[in-house]
Amino acid sequence: MNNRTFTMIKPDATEKGYTGGILKMINDAGFRIAAMKMVHLSEKKAGEFYAVHKERPFYGELVEFMSRGPITAAILEKDNAVEDFRKLIGATNPKDAAEGTIRKLYAASIGENAVHGSDSDENAAIEGDFFFSKLEQF
Ligand code: ATP
Ligand code: MG
Repeated sequence: MNNRTFTMIKPDATEKGYTGGILKMINDAGFRIAAMKMVHLSEKKAGEFYAVHKERPFYGELVEFMSRGPITAAILEKDNAVEDFRKLIGATNPKDAAEGTIRKLYAASIGENAVHGSDSDENAAIEGDFFFSKLEQF
């Protein structure tokens, strides 16, 4: 399946009231919402989600950040979803993010960067299934 990706609106963006603005950008870019919910991740769950980064120096900071408040998790559908969504969110560091991207507009720093986007079709499916049962994916 190459037409779905997974996203989270991260705690920094939730706290600042950016959820609606970010969802509008996602909608205007032509993504269909196939699943969506707000969740407050425990440290354990945030650590599991980002387990691929376990050895990175910022892992502890990342887990603490991602569990400090609610996120909005969603599965998004569009042709070429993974690549097109990465383009829409922009570079990991908002300083490097292109004009008009979600991170350019809404991200504060490389750590608190407003949104997550899957980096491959395989991870999009794994990440979507982490949050949503098959009954919750439409
Ligand atoms: P994401 O996976 O959240 O979409 P990304 O794919 O652009 O982001 P990754 O390299 O996968 O970037 O890093 C995952 C997350 O870890 C980043 O989005 C950011 O929140 C955090 N992170 C990455 N690099 C750093 C860093 N140098 N310092 C602090 N936090 C970082
Ligand atoms: Mg990533």
